[in-house]
Amino acid sequence: MTAAARTDPRTARRERVCILGSTGSVGTSTLDVLSRHPERFEVFALSAHSRVDELFEQCARWQPRFAVLPEAAQARVLSDRLKAHGLATEVLAGAQALCEMAAHEEVDAVMAAIVGAAGLAPCLAAAHAGKRLLLANKEALVVGGALFMNAVRTGGATLLPIDSEHSAIFQCLPLDRAGWPAHIDHVLLTSSGGPFRRRDPATMSTITPDEACAHPNFAMGRKISVDSATMMNKALEVIEARWLFDLTPEQIQVVIHPQQIVHSMVVCRDNSVLAQLGTPDMRVPIAYGLSFPERIESGASRLDFTALSALTFEAPDFARYPGLALAWEALRGPEGCATVLNAANEVAVAAFLAGTIRFDGIHSVVAHTIDAVLPEPESPGSIGALLELDARARQRAALFVKGLSA
Ligand code: NAD
Ligand code: MG
Repeated sequence: MTAAARTDPRTARRERVCILGSTGSVGTSTLDVLSRHPERFEVFALSAHSRVDELFEQCARWQPRFAVLPEAAQARVLSDRLKAHGLATEVLAGAQALCEMAAHEEVDAVMAAIVGAAGLAPCLAAAHAGKRLLLANKEALVVGGALFMNAVRTGGATLLPIDSEHSAIFQCLPLDRAGWPAHIDHVLLTSSGGPFRRRDPATMSTITPDEACAHPNFAMGRKISVDSATMMNKALEVIEARWLFDLTPEQIQVVIHPQQIVHSMVVCRDNSVLAQLGTPDMRVPIAYGLSFPERIESGASRLDFTALSALTFEAPDFARYPGLALAWEALRGPEGCATVLNAANEVAVAAFLAGTIRFDGIHSVVAHTIDAVLPEPESPGSIGALLELDARARQRAALFVKGLSA
């Protein structure tokens, strides 16, 4: 994450942005920020998974050079519709097309806003191509780990965190990162605690997908909403912080802060604490990622300190959120453990959202899969090996899901 030079202003052209996952919560917030700076940015490519109508609307509004969908049949439908409206966006299909867009020589910045490990390959493509990579897609870094960071280094990419906690830590650091990490004792990732912070633990098994997706402060995609409710989101963020900031597992702590005003903190060796504050709005970290090291208008409302009630902090209850502890276990465990954790969680959350398993079944599936898939040290030395491990974990997790739903 070096402060690499931005696009040369002497070329006097707008910066070209590729948004992977443009129809999602982060994707649409990114377009909202871009809409405030038409003189500075243009949209080069957009991508979606299934919401073809929304992608059509985005193409009509933004007129990108390319749009990407997973299936050829969907791509044909979109392409015909765009042509019928006299729009010139070229529609591509498949996972390889996402990688080509992320690495395209005309692209300056890539917003990685796909959910899940499906975003790993295009993130790596952007990293290898030396892009400014705006990372919302935490699962890609959790799965890719050291190999991901190595691709960033060797590709000369600039990796900018978009997850609000990691953006907060990043904003607390000196721009040149002088003294980092020598001056740091630890970081404190804040968490809202999700919608079930005060729920009677005896009723956790009856939680419905809609209840789990009703986050107190944010409207987010359904997968991250469930992750927030189990606090597996924070577990993924602990692993994400380890890689982004080169920290040991002991240097990462979590504190519950329901108001989500303090987005995270850095505790220095002298016990001075640096924090980043603001209204909870993803457009702030997105705008900072887009304009780094400058600051541009984000659309977020300003924090009114006189209107704030108390800011409260409490230790996380590991009995209520058993998945949280798995983050440190994964970091201390054999290489590849985080890949297995993430794969099992993706399978378990999908099963919960589909109504196949109960809310408390998510943790059982993840914990059992980690035990089953990692009986001996794994050291996946390549992305191919990582993806193989990911596939093996998914198969195993699916078996546990079947067992729970039988
Ligand atoms: P979302 O479900 O709203 O959107 C996901 C996007 O990815 C959609 O555009 C979808 O079409 C696309 N997509 C889904 N599966 C795909 C696949 N297999 N291949 C290609 N495209 C696919 O999710 P979101 O809430 O925007 O979250 C996106 C990422 O950002 C996640 O990794 C999440 O953890 C992270 N994040 C989100 C927030 C937030 O406030 N929403 C905050 C921090 C981090
Ligand atoms: Mg976050």
